[in-house]
Amino acid sequence: RAKSERASTFHFFEAGMDRKVMRRARIEAELRKAVDEGAIHSHFQPIVRLGDRSIIGFEALARWTHPELGDIPPEEFISVAEDCGFIPKLSGYLLENACAVAVNWPKDIFLSFNISPAEISDPSLVLRILKALGRSGLTADRLEIELTENALVRDFEIARRTLSGLRNAGIRIALDDFGAGNSSLHHLRELHFDRLKIDRSFTSQMLVSEEAAAMVRAIIHLASALSLSTTAEGIEMQDQIGPLIADGCLEAQGHHFGGALPAERVAELLASDRSRAKA
Ligand code: C2E
Ligand code: MG
Ligand code: MG
Ligand code: MG
Repeated sequence: RAKSERASTFHFFEAGMDRKVMRRARIEAELRKAVDEGAIHSHFQPIVRLGDRSIIGFEALARWTHPELGDIPPEEFISVAEDCGFIPKLSGYLLENACAVAVNWPKDIFLSFNISPAEISDPSLVLRILKALGRSGLTADRLEIELTENALVRDFEIARRTLSGLRNAGIRIALDDFGAGNSSLHHLRELHFDRLKIDRSFTSQMLVSEEAAAMVRAIIHLASALSLSTTAEGIEMQDQIGPLIADGCLEAQGHHFGGALPAERVAELLASDRSRAKA
């Protein structure tokens, strides 16, 4: 009996692995077509000033709803694209689209765009980004590039060169998911960031864990000592706002303020945000 149980467990495990491998293979096979047909595109999550909740920018977040597989999480298809060498094409396409959308927003609203770790070591990245800006007419000072700490540990020298290329072009750089990756404080001193984004794993616990609250406070103080802005990620509750402002964090995003919206909805949201600001 024990033997047959082991055998069936093994089969179950094997079938699970098969499904995973097959799903990745299918995503890989359909990525190119999905890009060509416009099935993958960005939605935009508002980034707000905590004091008055006014919108200061939007983060582009990739979305793909597959006719049979349903919503495929961006982390999944971006990791497949990284593995099969399709990331320059996918990311270039997403950035051109996002810039074309953002150029229609009011001039004081910026676009924040995620770059994956594999892209940071691509020597053509800076040129690719400048081309997307040029083609859309979006100015460099309205673009912020987000990268995670994991993008810095693969090849620090190349990352440093790419980041200084972006800075020289006038593009701002945000360190995403700060505290959740494998970075060191050394990176913060050596590289010039404009913003730290406090990872949701800290903010989501800040009201229930004294340690998490202490981490949030320490990150904000560190950022302010280095003259960096901070954005608190994953804000879902009104009660998180007071402590963040008291600690000196002025900007945030999260479901409390709104999730990622398609481009058309962003235009409506901006129109009502502006009329409220005037009233
Ligand atoms: P991220 O850049 O840290 O983006 C934040 C993620 O948290 C997004 O998930 C967003 O939808 C989610 N989120 C925002 N507010 C809340 C909240 O209040 N509560 C909760 N529970 N979640 C919240 P999403 O869209 O699934 O994206 C996941 C990750 O995929 C992103 O993490 C980013 O690393 C990556 N990603 C998304 N779009 C792109 C892209 O165009 N290019 C690259 N390279 N990566 C992307
Ligand atoms: Mg991000
Ligand atoms: Mg993040
Ligand atoms: Mg993340």
